[in-house]
Amino acid sequence: MLGFMDLQSLLDDLAREVAPFAAQGKVADYIPALAAVDPTRFGIALAMTDGQLYGSGDWRVPFSIQSVSKAFSLALVLARDGEALWKRVGREPSGNPFNSLVQLEYEKGIPRNPFLNAGALILIDRLLSLTGDSLGTLRDFLRAESGNPTVDIDPEVAASEATHGHRNAALAHFMASCGNLENPVERVLDHYFRQCALTMSCADLAKAGLFLANHGLRADGSRLLTRSEAKRINSIMLTCGTYDAAGDFAYRVGLPGKSGVGGGILAVLPERGVLCVWSPALDPHGNGVAGVEALDRFTTRTGWSIF
Ligand code: GLU
Repeated sequence: MLGFMDLQSLLDDLAREVAPFAAQGKVADYIPALAAVDPTRFGIALAMTDGQLYGSGDWRVPFSIQSVSKAFSLALVLARDGEALWKRVGREPSGNPFNSLVQLEYEKGIPRNPFLNAGALILIDRLLSLTGDSLGTLRDFLRAESGNPTVDIDPEVAASEATHGHRNAALAHFMASCGNLENPVERVLDHYFRQCALTMSCADLAKAGLFLANHGLRADGSRLLTRSEAKRINSIMLTCGTYDAAGDFAYRVGLPGKSGVGGGILAVLPERGVLCVWSPALDPHGNGVAGVEALDRFTTRTGWSIF
């Protein structure tokens, strides 16, 4: 087992080594509020199931978590609703961009998986029906698990998402036309845009994700998910969590992961801990270039992958 000093110096080495990779990517610019982020930022945090926390670089700096939030939404819906979800959304990789309209039309308004934008809209719709406040439920959960009561949305990013959200609105309206939304389109979109605008640091996210490494047990020891549900979420992260590059991510990193266009990636080391990296310069699929490189090097050097 690697000790405290080994892990800390490994993260420091990785932060230094992967810095040049930022030059290979491009910051998401489809909404102005994200385009303003410094592409050379890099953070990495490792929260262990034994309570140890390590980090390097900008690991305490909050960033826009974007689609990393979808892993948590899936957990909150599965915990309340179980298998009923799978009547409304699939669990196969899509091989298409995360905001594609084409596949949704020929598959009659049933999104291929819960991490596509359309699938995430279904998660939010269901959580709204179940709780009355999808964003509030998610935010409270993230605050509790990260131990950071200040976790909140960035209103500027949320407003920017809403102004430039035509494609997401199209996905939501199309699913409503197929009878696959329970709540009004505008309400679902409002919660979606604000959810994407949640800001958290690598340290917050790594801690918040620990239930996925802990077979569904929360930070206070209570159970969110059964062992089997936690396994299923990790499986979907492995196959669908990193856009249409999930195969390449699995090949290189060998861990379940969920990325977002803010540059964050959450990766689960079952029973050991959770890694979170932040690198805003993205590859063409939407994954942070330096972050994927750091995760690749981490699992290669430690041997800590699921395979
Ligand atoms: N807010 C983004 C969108 O809806 C999320 C994209 C992402 O991180 O995958 O386009």
